[in-house]
Amino acid sequence: MSSNHPDFIPALTPKIYRWMFDFMRYEKIRKLLEEFGSPVNVLHPEILVKNQHQFARVLREHGLQHLVCFARKANRSTGLVKATKEGGFGVDVASYHELEACIALGVDPNKLVITAAIKPRALIDLALKNQVLLIIDNHDEIEAIRARCQELSLVAKLGVRVSGFMHEGQKLYSRFGFDISETFGVISDLIHPDENFDYQGLHFHLDGYSVSQRAAALDALIELADHLQKESISTSFIDIGGGIPISYLASGEEWQIFQQELQKSLKQERTPITFQNNGLGFENVNGKIKGKLATYPYYNELNGAEYLNQLLLSSTTSGETLGRKLKDRKIELRLEPGRSLLNQVGFTAASVIFRKKDQQNNLLVGLEMNRSKLMSSSADFLLDPIILHQNPVTKFDEPCNGYLVGGYCLEGDIILKRKISFEKMPEVGDIICFPNTAGYLMHFYETLSHLYPITPNLLLDNYGHITPEKSPFV
Ligand SMILES: *Cc1c(COP(=O)(O)O)cnc(C)c1O
Repeated sequence: MSSNHPDFIPALTPKIYRWMFDFMRYEKIRKLLEEFGSPVNVLHPEILVKNQHQFARVLREHGLQHLVCFARKANRSTGLVKATKEGGFGVDVASYHELEACIALGVDPNKLVITAAIKPRALIDLALKNQVLLIIDNHDEIEAIRARCQELSLVAKLGVRVSGFMHEGQKLYSRFGFDISETFGVISDLIHPDENFDYQGLHFHLDGYSVSQRAAALDALIELADHLQKESISTSFIDIGGGIPISYLASGEEWQIFQQELQKSLKQERTPITFQNNGLGFENVNGKIKGKLATYPYYNELNGAEYLNQLLLSSTTSGETLGRKLKDRKIELRLEPGRSLLNQVGFTAASVIFRKKDQQNNLLVGLEMNRSKLMSSSADFLLDPIILHQNPVTKFDEPCNGYLVGGYCLEGDIILKRKISFEKMPEVGDIICFPNTAGYLMHFYETLSHLYPITPNLLLDNYGHITPEKSPFV
């Protein structure tokens, strides 16, 4: 259908690595769905390790000591932690249970970092007993850790989370960390003189995906490290957190066209391309489009390891690049990406259970899953799914379009809010695959409502063998 036809559905073609493309075959996935139920998550841990190596290569090229940590909160799979460990990389843990599991799996405690936003006593104790670095966030944590150090006669390895950086004349708000203006005092007056504490480094993790904000934060922390060094307090690492963008989509042009068509449909200039004409953040206010797209930026020209490279090449007020400044000071650079390390690591597949027409004549395709099995923290997951038809498409088949709906008893249990176009009418028993769901989508918001079981994680190895994970929690 031509792109000026009012019914044309703009495509959002996903980038798909070879392994994922090759694995998405009807017979193969049908067997997995029969054996393990629907939906299933398929994960290829070796791809995670490849992604880790790409970041490490950039850091090596800049001559930096480094540690790439995997923010495991982005996916619950144990297999990914094992692969990370075998690859020699680190893990960022966000809770007691994540830490406990990493220790049980034998991850080197020197390669673990605890950034948990809440640190109950059990977590502090486990960290102290295993000598794992704690990234501290507030004064009460300092007190709580000090008390446990004294009780257990152990020393705490500490990093300090910092926020409130200035960027283009504005202070970047965060609820996390110590404000940059108080951090020097916190370290020089409270942490460094205390024999319970072993101060090791500085940390930030910013919201959003801006390179220049990260550059400003990193530069500010190098300056802080210099300031501390004058008091003979050494900073051995700076950790720049995560938030390194990935590009889910193959085409920037499709990304633009989609946004234009969405705005047209809100202005009633064409048929809707989202369920009940959901604006995904855009709003029609008296004929004018207001607001902005409230989704992840699915197309990013600068992404992954090259993003890190550009960050390190950013120049500073003193004229040197950030990479050069870190190298000159022999400060180790650490980072802890979640989403970008999980790029192309997994996909989710579900069975088609029914087709129906709603009262507005929309085609609804019912899937054996619910929206918590593929849930974005933003307004929608904007990638075209891959449909595996059990019967091949023939010249007699008519294309059609509709919405994918799930099993929760909510009007809003729509798996993707976008209208999806099909080469032909899906049939009961066909399979819908959602590519590139390993980063957050498959696990972060999964719920147990209606007693739907936790979706099984199936691990794929380099020989094409599948191993189901016994439990996602151990
Ligand atoms: C969530 C989080 C990360 C990972 O963020 P991504 O956007 O997945 O890269 C890293 N560090 C901290 C402290 C986080 O909260």
